Amino acid sequence: TIGMLTRDSAGNIAGACTTSGLAYKMRGRVGDSPVIGAGLYVDNEVGGATATGMGEEVVRTVGSFLIVELMRQGLSPQAACEEGVRRILAKNKGRQDFQIGFIALNKQGQTGSYCIHPGFSYRLYDANGHRNVPSASFIQPE
Ligand code: ASP
Repeated sequence: TIGMLTRDSAGNIAGACTTSGLAYKMRGRVGDSPVIGAGLYVDNEVGGATATGMGEEVVRTVGSFLIVELMRQGLSPQAACEEGVRRILAKNKGRQDFQIGFIALNKQGQTGSYCIHPGFSYRLYDANGHRNVPSASFIQPE
């Protein structure tokens, strides 16, 4: 999955995601990416979030919507992404043999990211296209 979140100079948030789906392509499967609220959600009053990884698990928690709602309640994008991953782990009784990654951006331009295993990366660009985060800043949960 490629997920993108943007914020313009007026603070407007937009998002998009695309996916090739999971490997081995189960016929008829719909992953999280086409499901608004699961693989992607933006509320221009709050911010946006997008997901990658095992879509079924993201759908079960309506993951991107959850992260935006947590930001609405005052959590930072980072804390919201961490809670989103924790909810999924809790539903799986701590099982970690799958990957989930979230990124989030709020109205103030703060960003966050979190995943179950290292390996995902994201890039953060400023208005001039200058990259100001070198690479992955994902953290492995305890
Ligand atoms: N989230 C996607 C899916 O479940 C897979 C991916 O991250 O590429 O279809």
